[in-house]
Amino acid sequence: MSCDFVSIATEGVQGLTPYQPGKPVEELERELGIQNIVKLASNENPLGASPRAAEAIQAQISELTRYPDGNGFILKQALSQHLGVNLDAIVLGNGSNDVLNLIARAYLAPGYESLFSAHAFAVYPIATQAVGAKAVVAPAKNWGHDLEAMASAITDKTKVIFLANPNNPTGTWFTRADFETFIKKVPENVIVVLDEAYFEYVDEPEYPNGLDYLSQYPNLIVSRTFSKAYGLASLRVGYSISNPQIADVLNRVRSPFNVDSFALAAAVAVLDDKEYLQKSIVINREGMEQVTQGLENMGLSYIPSVGNFVSVDFGKDAMPIYEALLREGVIVRPVGPYKMPTFLRISIGLPEENARFLGALQSSAVKALL
Ligand SMILES: *Cc1c(COP(=O)(O)O)cnc(C)c1O
Repeated sequence: MSCDFVSIATEGVQGLTPYQPGKPVEELERELGIQNIVKLASNENPLGASPRAAEAIQAQISELTRYPDGNGFILKQALSQHLGVNLDAIVLGNGSNDVLNLIARAYLAPGYESLFSAHAFAVYPIATQAVGAKAVVAPAKNWGHDLEAMASAITDKTKVIFLANPNNPTGTWFTRADFETFIKKVPENVIVVLDEAYFEYVDEPEYPNGLDYLSQYPNLIVSRTFSKAYGLASLRVGYSISNPQIADVLNRVRSPFNVDSFALAAAVAVLDDKEYLQKSIVINREGMEQVTQGLENMGLSYIPSVGNFVSVDFGKDAMPIYEALLREGVIVRPVGPYKMPTFLRISIGLPEENARFLGALQSSAVKALL
């Protein structure tokens, strides 16, 4: 092979490191030959999907040979009613990840910049560099977004600003007042993406609902997902809500059938399953209490989180601790790529899964490393 296929990729892509997902349970089973593994690594809903999802998928099986509805009408209609927004404000994505990529493809290019916070979600730099634009990282404050610093980092090349509220992997969030102060400073030709992947979990009176700002700020895009509180991570369904002009632009670069029939049907089925959603929220609230209490009892510090995960600071390179936890059959998430090498992120699981994690921390092999 005389051609170096990396060096002929676009410059932005050459500079990328691939997204590192949580380790799959099957992989650890193969590697260590152990069973009974607990995965608390990908902020998945520990309840298992709503039974309504499986029913909806069954009902679609007879349609396997057909293309899905490329317009996703039934889901958009359900979302439109559920959220109180117009149908033409909604763009469906193959996970909200897809929506973030659509935004980058439609609005970023070489010569332009996207802007996001230090320790923000890893997809923002990937989406940006994949289209040849420059990712500008604003400093964080107490691990959270410093919206003042972000406003100061806007240049005449800034086209898209990504805000995660709450942010993953830090679990930090910003208030309505701080968001309002920020967005007032953003020029109208700069797109503000408010990533609300964990919206349903947040129970803070001062937490802003992005939808409340859409009419006042035509440059705002709110993104949400069925992967977290709605428990459908494997199906890949997310969406954005924005002014219809932006939605039209995003639809121009969207692949025609980006959300499959099973995903569309299951998303519709779970959207109004209030019981499941409520159960997800309660199990997370109780699990967060269980995990953080356990960490405090061990004298470990963590970043207070309003998501379904918490990042724990071990005050030293966390990789040996991560590996020792794997040997105890507990998969958590290293966050070195987020410039948090002393942290591990733990997703909140079922009570017995949380207990397994806390127990593993106290096993002699792990304890020796703390
Ligand atoms: C999980 C997550 C998403 C999107 O996940 P999808 O499964 O692609 O919908 C988006 N933003 C943040 C901050 C996340 O943590």
